Amino acid sequence: MLDRKFILQNAQLVAENSAKRGVSVDVDAICRLEAERMEALKQAEELNRQANEVSKQIKSAKDNDERQELISKGRSLREQKDAAGAQQDRLEAEILELQTILPNMTHPDVPEGGEHDANEIGRGKTPVPKLDFQPLDHLQLGEKHDLFDFEGGARVAGSGFYFLRNAAVRLDLALQQFAISHLAGKGFTPVSTPDLALTSVLQGTGFNPRGPETQIYSIENTELNLVATAEIPLGGMLSGQVLASEELPLRYCGLSHCFRTEAGAAGRASKGLYRVHQFTKVEMFAFTSPDQSTAMHEEMRELECEIFDALEVPYRVIDTATGDLGGPAYRKYDLEAWMPGRGESGDWGEVTSTSNCTDYQARRLNVRSKTTGQKGTDFVHTLNGTAIATGRAMIAILENHQRADGTINVPKTLRPWVGCDVLECVS
Ligand code: AMP
Repeated sequence: MLDRKFILQNAQLVAENSAKRGVSVDVDAICRLEAERMEALKQAEELNRQANEVSKQIKSAKDNDERQELISKGRSLREQKDAAGAQQDRLEAEILELQTILPNMTHPDVPEGGEHDANEIGRGKTPVPKLDFQPLDHLQLGEKHDLFDFEGGARVAGSGFYFLRNAAVRLDLALQQFAISHLAGKGFTPVSTPDLALTSVLQGTGFNPRGPETQIYSIENTELNLVATAEIPLGGMLSGQVLASEELPLRYCGLSHCFRTEAGAAGRASKGLYRVHQFTKVEMFAFTSPDQSTAMHEEMRELECEIFDALEVPYRVIDTATGDLGGPAYRKYDLEAWMPGRGESGDWGEVTSTSNCTDYQARRLNVRSKTTGQKGTDFVHTLNGTAIATGRAMIAILENHQRADGTINVPKTLRPWVGCDVLECVS
């Protein structure tokens, strides 16, 4: 959430920024409602002052008639004060509703536009493979190796759910182990998060748990929701806390299941594991001081590159355009892996995403930092980044490491956990 004072002082800039990010919010209405709220506040204070004055006069009333008159005047003033207070609360709720829709401000280097306007800013160490055979997609490979059961998944939970089987289970676990080990070696504290979070925590991290386009599954008659990413519980983990500036940055890597309704995703290329309702992810999350967040964002991008280089998967890095940033991100980098079985003749598909959310989430989650010996506190900055989303990483591995005979090379990094060098076909 943006700072209200900043919005009021930079209304035009905020409106332009929202428009660039494809979010329509009436910023002038925020300014108007805030002026009305201030007026109601002033009125309530003045009525309170007058009511206190009358209370004092009651004590020195010269007779009962005067006392009764003052009592009724005091009562009327307090009723008017309460009405002004209620008006102020109503206006505050209206402002907050508009304020929370406003997206974060945007890094000046972020390209303007939509999905196709992102800037490519780098490539991984592994080149796109030149295969001298017709590659299979991950579903065809899955059949040869008995890796997935989408029909069984649909019987249990509906379409978009699946069972992993055999080597896919070992690959899934190996990817989690590898990502966690890699990050633990880089100073990230591994945590396994709750898969449910309170609505207030979702809202604090910038997720909308309600409405037709929501990505969130909610538990009926409770304030609980299935998390769409470990970013949600990791952000909420320190909500309301004041952190010691000297201890920042705090780095975590969270393991969670991710549940997404994928509302509005119909028709987007989403074969097999690419777009499902449940997947497992290791997510990086950091709390930093404001002057550390740019460097932390680069660190997360670098770690994502290290992970996909180690998996020997070809990828490109993109600086996401304004229309694709979502609400909380100030800047977002994605890694897109080459997937030989995607589209007609292979295509890039997003495998990771890292965002610098500056103080946008911290303001709603109320996470602050304090420097010893100094007065006051600051909102921290929060950042998140995918270390591994196992489903899409598995697509990239299976499709890039397949061989002409249908067998699949296991990337060297994963062999200790998978327990073999090559996946042999079972049919
Ligand atoms: P996000 O949290 O939306 O930035 O997504 C992080 C990563 O999770 C993406 O880069 C994908 O690798 C993966 N992902 C997102 N949505 C899905 C989905 N519906 N099914 C499978 N993987 C997904």
